[in-house]
Amino acid sequence: MSGDSGVPAADDRAPLLFLRDVSKTFSTGTVALRGVDMTIRDGDFLSLLGPSGCGKSTALRLIAGLSTPTSGQIEWPGASSRSDIGFVFQEPTLMPWASVFDNVWLPLRLRGIARAQAQPAVMEMLERVHLAGFADAVPRELSGGMKMRVSIARAMVTKPRLLLMDEPFAALDEITRFQLNNDLLDLWQDQRFTVVFVTHSVFESVFLSNRIVTMAARPGRVADEMAVSAPYPRDEAFRTSVDYAALCRQASTALEAAMGTNAEPRHVHA
Ligand code: ADP
Ligand code: MG
Repeated sequence: MSGDSGVPAADDRAPLLFLRDVSKTFSTGTVALRGVDMTIRDGDFLSLLGPSGCGKSTALRLIAGLSTPTSGQIEWPGASSRSDIGFVFQEPTLMPWASVFDNVWLPLRLRGIARAQAQPAVMEMLERVHLAGFADAVPRELSGGMKMRVSIARAMVTKPRLLLMDEPFAALDEITRFQLNNDLLDLWQDQRFTVVFVTHSVFESVFLSNRIVTMAARPGRVADEMAVSAPYPRDEAFRTSVDYAALCRQASTALEAAMGTNAEPRHVHA
């Protein structure tokens, strides 16, 4: 049951992109990914869950086209393409000298859209992330959570089909993280884009996702895939529910198993 949230069951949706037998070996000899197969469906909120060094960031960079696979393919079967992607990194990476407005305007400016013309789209996104009152502030005047909101607004201002997020909330305190989790889900439910979300938090991945792909390290690979069929919208009641606890246990078990199947002993750190 998907409830009355309007989020269709995973298998009913069209594939947005395929990773087919994707491997990435760096010139250092590190096999960051080996034989990764994955289907990302239109409208998915998919989390890549795994320990440090299992190739999560490498996978995102390959999807974004910032890097190319050593072997295997990344296929976009539909009309969408790499130009239709937003990227949010763990560090907000804002221009320190520019206002919040100008930071969010940047991707539109790069497409040749003048400031006045961009105004409605920029202000709409700032409202969506609860920063409409901070358009003229500069980054140093903002908290870490607010900077991350600006970063999300900047990634979403072009209304990309696919949003890639690399541990975006890892540096934030738990209360701020929960707020941003809630706001991100609101935005996702409202605007119906696809998210690939990298995290090493079991709790965060279960709260947010409809699918969790667990990865293992050395070599980086897919170890497990699970559906999180709890209905949206998900709120604080879900966060404290028996269902949530059971799903967290399931994801945690998958992660433990993935970490226990390392090719090298666990005491060896990369
Ligand atoms: P994760 O994001 O899951 O922590 P990464 O994708 O960053 O993992 O890295 C996977 C592996 O590839 C790690 O062993 C890392 O040290 C290595 N790696 C990542 N980027 C490079 C690079 N540019 N050159 C060499 N090795 C790299
Ligand atoms: Mg990483």
